[in-house]
Amino acid sequence: MIETDVLVSGGGVAGLTAAAAFGAAGFSVICVDPTPPVTEMQAEGSDLRTTAFLQPSRDFLIRAGLWDRLEPHASALQVMRIVDAGGQEPEPRSSHDFNAADISDLPFGWNLPNWLLSREMVARLAEMPNVDFRPGTGTAGVLTRDREALVTLSDGTRIRARLIIAADGRKSPVREAVGIPVKTTRYGQKALAFAVTHDVPHGNVSTEIHRSGGPFTLVPLPDHEGRPSSAVVWMERGPEVARLAALPTADFEAEMTARSAGLWGPLTLITRRTVWPIISQVAERMEAERVALVAEAAHVVPPIGAQGLNMSLGDMRALLDLAEASPEDLGSRRMLAAYHKARHGEVRARVAGIDALNRASMVSIQGLRDMRMRALRAFYSVKPVRTSLMRAGLGTGRAG
Ligand SMILES: Cc1cc2nc3c(=O)[nH]c(=O)nc-3n(C[C@H](O)[C@H](O)[C@H](O)COP(=O)(O)OP(=O)(O)OC[C@H]3O[C@@H](n4cnc5c(N)ncnc54)[C@H](O)[C@@H]3O)c2cc1C
Repeated sequence: MIETDVLVSGGGVAGLTAAAAFGAAGFSVICVDPTPPVTEMQAEGSDLRTTAFLQPSRDFLIRAGLWDRLEPHASALQVMRIVDAGGQEPEPRSSHDFNAADISDLPFGWNLPNWLLSREMVARLAEMPNVDFRPGTGTAGVLTRDREALVTLSDGTRIRARLIIAADGRKSPVREAVGIPVKTTRYGQKALAFAVTHDVPHGNVSTEIHRSGGPFTLVPLPDHEGRPSSAVVWMERGPEVARLAALPTADFEAEMTARSAGLWGPLTLITRRTVWPIISQVAERMEAERVALVAEAAHVVPPIGAQGLNMSLGDMRALLDLAEASPEDLGSRRMLAAYHKARHGEVRARVAGIDALNRASMVSIQGLRDMRMRALRAFYSVKPVRTSLMRAGLGTGRAG
């Protein structure tokens, strides 16, 4: 029987961050994942999505001792541009820039490829003597009591932990083992994620183009072989994504250039296309005896406004603040009730907000698309509304 303060179930980007953060705070940590992380871009199964870390998340990455490793690879996001191309033709008919300079001296956030995050996070864990990362081994059984959790791993190892952090994804085996229900919303929608190069420099502008089916988003990346480059997330209804994913490259490039309204010139595909199902999901509680749910184990949102992993880092910040405030109380009923209280309302509000934005972006009826454009124009034109929306998006204030 191995004893540890914290058992992190899941070694995705969220689980690796949790392990680094609790390790940096001096807790002993074991992190397990049955699927070893893929840490090279070209390797089979690498995660080609990128994550835009917003300002509060960068502070947490600094606290976890991760930021120094990540910063050299990050692209700053200074402006968020929202373009409406919802007219009869796929052309821009309105464009609104939200500039971080209106609310802060810093950019909104910093964008990094997920495969590179895994590489740097795994390297960071290897430096920490109090963190034991066990790729290739999963959580197989969970039994909790008032004073501890007993975890059986897939290789038969038994662990006694004061706290289990469930970061094992949207189908979280730990969440299922402790019986926390979820509420799931399906949109019949999927996302294509890939990277492109283009002629027009992105100028650190992240651009979301709305027409129908969901947003087409270009997020700045460092130059690729001397050419400006962006990560793309293209959301559409499922059958349309299947059609796009199967197109020959030249036809796909023509379609994505048209869908981007030609804003960055012709787009050239530089990675494979990966497909991601889109849902919203919220767990009914963020905790159970000796268990805290974080990240997609607790909440899933469509990729709009870079909220998903940023909310997850918010979970970890709340949990770590409580753990550091009274370390002897780690995993207690009192601590976990406080965690639930700190996070659940905020999480539900954000999931509801992103659900509404996604539905607005999906509309195909012309009259509704025109209404969407007028609503954005109205919000944008009132400066206090605009700046409070920006603060709410960053997680440093509330809308309204
Ligand atoms: C197209 C797209 C773009 C996105 N862009 C952004 C963005 O710009 N900014 C942002 O903040 N968010 C973004 N998100 C959301 C973000 O990618 C996710 O929130 C994040 O990747 C989820 O991380 P996770 O670690 O919770 O889950 P996962 O990555 O699913 O990790 C869960 C891990 O648990 C492991 N696991 C499963 N079973 C077990 C077991 N029995 N024991 C132990 N481990 C187990 C799995 O192997 C897996 O590695 C995006 C999402 C999508 C779909």
